[in-house]
Amino acid sequence: MKILNASTSISAIIDSRKVEEAMDAIRSSRNIVITTHLSPDGDALGASLALYSFLKRQGKSPRIIVPNSIPYFLRWMEGAGEIEVYEYHPPAGQRILAAADLIFCLDYNIIKRVGPMGPYIENSAATKVLIDHHLLPGDGFDILISHPEISSTSELLFRFLNQAGEYNRLTKVEAECIYCGMMTDTGGFTYNSGDPEIYEIISLLLRKGVDKDDIYSKVFHNYSETRFRLLGFTLSQRMEVYPDQHSALLHLSREDQSHFQFSKGDTEGFVNYPLSIKDIIFSTFIRADEELIKLSFRSQKSFPCNEFAAEFFNGGGHLNASGGEFYGSFEEAVRIYKEGLATYRDKLKSAFNEE
Ligand code: 5GP
Ligand code: MN
Repeated sequence: MKILNASTSISAIIDSRKVEEAMDAIRSSRNIVITTHLSPDGDALGASLALYSFLKRQGKSPRIIVPNSIPYFLRWMEGAGEIEVYEYHPPAGQRILAAADLIFCLDYNIIKRVGPMGPYIENSAATKVLIDHHLLPGDGFDILISHPEISSTSELLFRFLNQAGEYNRLTKVEAECIYCGMMTDTGGFTYNSGDPEIYEIISLLLRKGVDKDDIYSKVFHNYSETRFRLLGFTLSQRMEVYPDQHSALLHLSREDQSHFQFSKGDTEGFVNYPLSIKDIIFSTFIRADEELIKLSFRSQKSFPCNEFAAEFFNGGGHLNASGGEFYGSFEEAVRIYKEGLATYRDKLKSAFNEE
């Protein structure tokens, strides 16, 4: 077994035995598959593509399978064109998962979060390595690298590779993907990003030639005209503000979406905007999807929007960024949200008033 030597001064928070075990598993595996959660975001894809590139450098022929499509503003990442989308052709994905001897589970804590391809991961005989930062990791993983205190899975992957002594060999492409994941999961380093080591890691990534302003532009200055108009419409016509509860709600019905040439990913990030309103610390976005109602929550200070998501919408996530889903009518989802607000009124007030 190789002696592991981190090549930087970043602290080694991951149990070194797990790093060794995962690196051994990589060395001894032929068919390696990387998987992410439903509606893969910048963090899920950044971590996956960085790992993908790393594995290729190890002489492997890895595959990435994601449950459904990739937002257009993330397709610039190198390797994105090689990702297989399970939903487009489930039998192909099932074959790849069945033949895997090593499966990486990135940026999700429980199999439910990968949707219909979950059972094929669960039933695969492959060794399963979880690298994730969500609370409460589930069962069924052989090597569990779960660190909810870390702001993104991409940062955690950086730490993993660093602890494996791989920083010096890290490529510019890998650094770009990791940076993109760290940036998107912290809203451009505006929340959940107070750990000074985040900036030490960024410094190490910049040394690899990452152009951070260019990545910011590619991700955040990439709205289509319709998406931008949809945002304007949503903020002006579909927003309700509840000053007493320091909360705001955005909502879009199927009909609203049909008036704009809506494409998946078009509403990504909308939920963050109401937090720009003075004294608003809890923002919710309710959107009718094809078969279900999807909810996104964002909060500030210590208000636990993941608790709200879990209690009313079968969801979860992080303290300040969470989501959930609802099977029922759009009106019913809005009604439950409003009841929830009433229940959480005191908690909202005390979170708002804290220093
Ligand atoms: P977003 O609002 O960006 O879709 O999701 C924010 C975060 O909420 C995700 O990173 C994930 O942790 C969590 N999340 C989103 N949707 C769900 C869901 O349906 N169930 C659970 N448990 N968590 C979710
Ligand atoms: Mn993440």
